[in-house]
Amino acid sequence: MPQSKSERPETMQAVVCHGPEDYRLEELPVPAPGPGEALVRVEAVGICASDLKCFHGAAKFWGDQSRPAYAEKGALPGHEFVGEVVDLDHEAARRWGVSVGDRVVSEQIVPCWQCRYCRRGEYWLCEPHVVYGFKTRRPGAMASYMVFPADAIVHRVSKGLEAAHAAFAEPLACGLHAVERANIRFDDVVVIAGCGPIGLSMVAGAAAKSPKAVIALDMSSTRLEIASLCGATRTIDITQEDPVDAVNTLTDGLGADVYLEATGHPASVPQGLNILRKRGTFVEYGVFAADVTVDWSIISDDKELTVLGAHLGPNCWPTAIKMLESGRLPMDRICTHQLPLDQFQAGLDLVGDGTKSIKVTLIPD
Ligand SMILES: [Zn+2]
Ligand SMILES: [Zn+2]
Repeated sequence: MPQSKSERPETMQAVVCHGPEDYRLEELPVPAPGPGEALVRVEAVGICASDLKCFHGAAKFWGDQSRPAYAEKGALPGHEFVGEVVDLDHEAARRWGVSVGDRVVSEQIVPCWQCRYCRRGEYWLCEPHVVYGFKTRRPGAMASYMVFPADAIVHRVSKGLEAAHAAFAEPLACGLHAVERANIRFDDVVVIAGCGPIGLSMVAGAAAKSPKAVIALDMSSTRLEIASLCGATRTIDITQEDPVDAVNTLTDGLGADVYLEATGHPASVPQGLNILRKRGTFVEYGVFAADVTVDWSIISDDKELTVLGAHLGPNCWPTAIKMLESGRLPMDRICTHQLPLDQFQAGLDLVGDGTKSIKVTLIPD
């Protein structure tokens, strides 16, 4: 039900990042939306692997000798979310085409719309690069309420979905973007390494492109079973079977056309280079905790490969939402755990453990 201003509480529960390994549940004032902004009651917020890396103090977030810190103490985490609009002005309603009571998501990056990338339509590479949940000026969704700023990109989502499933629009859009980068063709054999939230999203996206084969790799039989439900035509447990041999058998010794990397594990990179055919395409989405060493002459002299990076999920949110609304993804299997917000630590631990969960979602009060 839409709330009137008088029904809205003055304070809310929120998870506050005080630094690595120091996140606390606190009572904060409910934020007030400014001109052109919207106040949203958070229904669900997914925990991302990047949230866990930030929690554990990864250099990517807290800096090291060669780079400044990205994350800030005092930020409210959470960038994969869905909520209900509870307050907005005319300007915001007109810009986004939403009204009070609508269920909405916002893309995780809030572009500046001024920088070189934004001006050229590459908004997901925006130079200030403000993603919800890492900086104090852009609080994330691990709270009962959050503000969508005027620069946000907002999409409406059906209320027929479970909140945790709707919040999966973020990782799904990311996986779809990696698929778009790969430029998959009908006759392609596509290999996806890693069947976590992003990898499964890649499987779903690759399958939607109807190539000859979508081959999912993982070390967990449960995840591989879910990959099949997402559209994989073949699954390979890499602890049981050599994926290079398996793909060679399937392709008369030529190798795969496309390799989508979603593990962030250093061993997955040489594996991909070896699995690909000549002139194959490697798309890297993973984020690595350590440097990766490979023989680059496979890329040049041996195979003339195309190696591409992918980041966030630009222009893929409408498709991700449509895919979720179609009901064709096994969302009950993907969204394994829903916990109340005050159990955020248990949620982070579940993601850290990595064996019991796929997507862990927090549900604020
Ligand atoms: Zn994420
Ligand atoms: Zn920008």
